[in-house]
Amino acid sequence: MILQPSDVGWIEVICGPMFSGKTEELIRRLKRANYARQQVQIFKPQIDDRYQSEAIVSHSQVALPSVVVSTVEQMRAALNSQVEVIGIDEVQFFDASVVDFCEELADGERRVIVAGLDQDYLGKPFGPMPRLLASAEYITKLLAICIKCGNPANRSYRLASDPQQVLVGTAEQYEARCRRCFREGYPSAHSFQAVE
Ligand code: ADP
Ligand code: MG
Ligand code: ZN
Repeated sequence: MILQPSDVGWIEVICGPMFSGKTEELIRRLKRANYARQQVQIFKPQIDDRYQSEAIVSHSQVALPSVVVSTVEQMRAALNSQVEVIGIDEVQFFDASVVDFCEELADGERRVIVAGLDQDYLGKPFGPMPRLLASAEYITKLLAICIKCGNPANRSYRLASDPQQVLVGTAEQYEARCRRCFREGYPSAHSFQAVE
């Protein structure tokens, strides 16, 4: 992003599958805001308890301190009024009210940077992500590397056969896959008929 607006807020969405570097990219942007001496506050949902619980941590172990909250209301209550830049990791785990929260912050002249999975393990849009993508001024869609064939990967393939949408895990439960290897991995083709 070359041009940075002034005197207005905006929303940036960083999306893509697991292992695509969303958290790394979020951390990169937030560190740069820190260097610019901007007040930064970082949130993540309670559900993500991989690695340290009070930090956002990438798969490559880069970390930044964060406030852990269970709901959007808790996030609102914990918000420091001086803050200029708000980062939210794993934003797909919050309910739809996170979209209004982000809009309010941006309307209040804050820079809001959210990172989240745009698709669940079936390839379906994840929670509030479609609306966040629609509201955002800036969108970055990242790709991982397909574990099977090395092509760019835009899907998170679940190895475990647990049908719940939220199953937090790392390399043991999920693989980054391209669309072909994703499709071939679900032999009964149960899943992607549901993709509209
Ligand atoms: P995300 O937040 O999107 O899940 P992270 O920022 O936590 O991603 O992690 C990205 C890092 O994951 C990469 O820099 C790389 O070290 C590692 N990684 C592991 N598996 C893959 C893969 N299949 N493709 C790309 N990166 C991978
Ligand atoms: Mg992440
Ligand atoms: Zn592939």
